[in-house]
Amino acid sequence: MGGLKRKFQIFLNRLSLFALLLLLSLVSFGFRPHWGFWAHRHINRLAVYRLPPEMLVFYKKHIGYLADNAVNPDQRRYAVVGEAERHYIDLDVYGDSALQVLPLYWSAAKEKFGEDSLRKHGIVPWYIQTATYQLTEAFQAKDARRILRISADLGHYVADAHVPLHTTRNYNGQLTGQEGIHGFWESRLPELFASHFELWTGPATYIEHPARAIWEAVARTHAATDTVLLLERQLSQEFSDDRKYSYETRNGVLVRTYSAEFSRKYHQLLQGQVERQMRASVRMVADLWYTAWINAGQPDLAPLSELRFTEEDKKQEAAEQQGWLRRLLRVRPEADDITP
Ligand SMILES: [Zn+2]
Repeated sequence: MGGLKRKFQIFLNRLSLFALLLLLSLVSFGFRPHWGFWAHRHINRLAVYRLPPEMLVFYKKHIGYLADNAVNPDQRRYAVVGEAERHYIDLDVYGDSALQVLPLYWSAAKEKFGEDSLRKHGIVPWYIQTATYQLTEAFQAKDARRILRISADLGHYVADAHVPLHTTRNYNGQLTGQEGIHGFWESRLPELFASHFELWTGPATYIEHPARAIWEAVARTHAATDTVLLLERQLSQEFSDDRKYSYETRNGVLVRTYSAEFSRKYHQLLQGQVERQMRASVRMVADLWYTAWINAGQPDLAPLSELRFTEEDKKQEAAEQQGWLRRLLRVRPEADDITP
């Protein structure tokens, strides 16, 4: 009887963890949204196929890890101090000439604007540089786990930097009465149309000047922001609310979403913008992985490909994720979470 009770207790604890995860994803939607899970996973996966054989031998073997962990940075962003601001930059805060005003490098930017102020408005272009540098160090140290962790994270930040609404303080159309547009652009449109996207971009190429390339990508992304907002506003004038939105059942819950017709028209008006940005993400993710490896002196990755994630590694990762949740929700640890 005692055993049964204990099993039931374990079941309850698991259930509460599941509830926490669900709550966390709902909480995330309430704040700054992000590329859908599918897009992040897909971008990391496709980037692997652009790598040269010397890297592919390692990355292909761990392609599942790179996809599964592509959304880690989103899962920890309300739990880990300093994480949230790595996903965006509100360029409009700095005026029309933001891209001329903001220094390429973090140290110069800190001197000019102060760290607190920078963090308040997002730091994605600088953080991608930091992560690229950390990846070079991980390659030099031949630390397989670290290489994978940083590669997965880097893929995430690069993808976020290609979402136009990650470069403006009007990130969800909340300043212009267009609430919901963020998820519409980066989750709903890929969900409906990505099966037709052509995302192959050829082999990875070395980036001579990563900081400049990253800022150029952010500048191109930001240039699309006005179009994203304007076209939705214009199209909305042609649609009554009951045609603009439809209701769908997801996981047993009825949710309001943009109708298929409205989505299709908007997607046509954008003329392949979502596809272009997704393709550019895949390109830059692989190029930065490759550049970090070259800069580390092209270490032989073949011996590292034997890395297997042991049960211990998996437990550690799970414990870390629970730690993020706990910090987020300030939940007391359950006795059962502490594995003997
Ligand atoms: Zn993100």
